[in-house]
Amino acid sequence: MPSSTPPLSRITVLSGGVGGARFVQGLLHGLRSGAVPGGSADTEVTVIANTADDWWIHGLKVCPDLDTLMYTLGDGIDVERGWGRRDETWSAKTELEAYGVEPTWFGLGDRDIATHLVRTQMLEAGFTLSQVTEALCRRWQPGVRLLPMSDDRVETHIAIADPDSPSGRSVVHFQEYWVRLRAAVPAETVLVVGQEAATPAPGVLDAIADADLVVLPPSNPVVSVGTILGVPGIRDAVHATTAPVVGLSPIVGDSHVHGMAAQMLTSIGVEVSAGAVGAHYGPRSAGGVLDGWLVDTRDADQVPGLEAVGLRARAVPLMMSDPAATAVMAAAAAELVAS
Ligand code: GDP
Ligand code: CA
Repeated sequence: MPSSTPPLSRITVLSGGVGGARFVQGLLHGLRSGAVPGGSADTEVTVIANTADDWWIHGLKVCPDLDTLMYTLGDGIDVERGWGRRDETWSAKTELEAYGVEPTWFGLGDRDIATHLVRTQMLEAGFTLSQVTEALCRRWQPGVRLLPMSDDRVETHIAIADPDSPSGRSVVHFQEYWVRLRAAVPAETVLVVGQEAATPAPGVLDAIADADLVVLPPSNPVVSVGTILGVPGIRDAVHATTAPVVGLSPIVGDSHVHGMAAQMLTSIGVEVSAGAVGAHYGPRSAGGVLDGWLVDTRDADQVPGLEAVGLRARAVPLMMSDPAATAVMAAAAAELVAS
């Protein structure tokens, strides 16, 4: 490690679900193995999670991105699926279907339901989502401080064309767009209900201001990182922090690796490319949120264009095939903005 590398006591990550969780898992691996310059096993990692995918279903409050983070980092995840509990069973779902209870397209696993029962009971007893998350993490010990972006209800809805509706369109909850419609119909608009009135959860702004490094992992730039940055105060905090801010592209080649980032980018008028996403976040020197942006080696041709708009940019392999490969990505991200 070069002696000039500044020590990383605190790293803060703004995360969605699967992409963000896999990144943080690799980051922790890299910190523990000494691969991340300036970092160590003692580096404190704070993860600010998107909560705009949350919804109420069958009377339960479900927080998909918080749970994906908690289960991935706490070694309870179904690794193949990337979400939900390992060794899951689906008896409750089958029983609900037998009662004809809608919606049948959203499955809650039996083990997973326990998490939602604890969360819902605590919320109904008056605890905040931050307090509930802390309580759930006592079991899962994720090795990071996990914070919801806000304790307020914020929900992403998607407007889609609907010839059967008098207005020609209908609006569905994010989960319905993703799970029932499989993001297969074009998204006309992304509406983040409740966002303007939301406030950052306790600790969120301090975690950004007091960090030594802020990371935007390869999460969905619109409905994961975008919704976090959209909570009033958060974008300004990222823009203003004394820490360097680095991001990693979720777009490799001309599409996302998993998920639906391409559909979401198209709906907000951003080209589906690693370079366009970096430019969309923008350099802090011009009002944006980034100092550095990593793209995959397949997108190396986009580095000069990113540098021309004022970003530090580098092309490295960005496939999170396992925690060791992801640790190398985390190290490259820290290095890009280290000096
Ligand atoms: P979600 O909330 O579960 O959708 O997860 P995130 O928003 O955190 O991450 C979704 C994004 O992760 C998608 O846009 C994917 O393209 C991206 N992603 C998933 N796996 C990889 C990978 O191995 N490499 C890169 N660069 N991006 C990935
Ligand atoms: Ca999500």
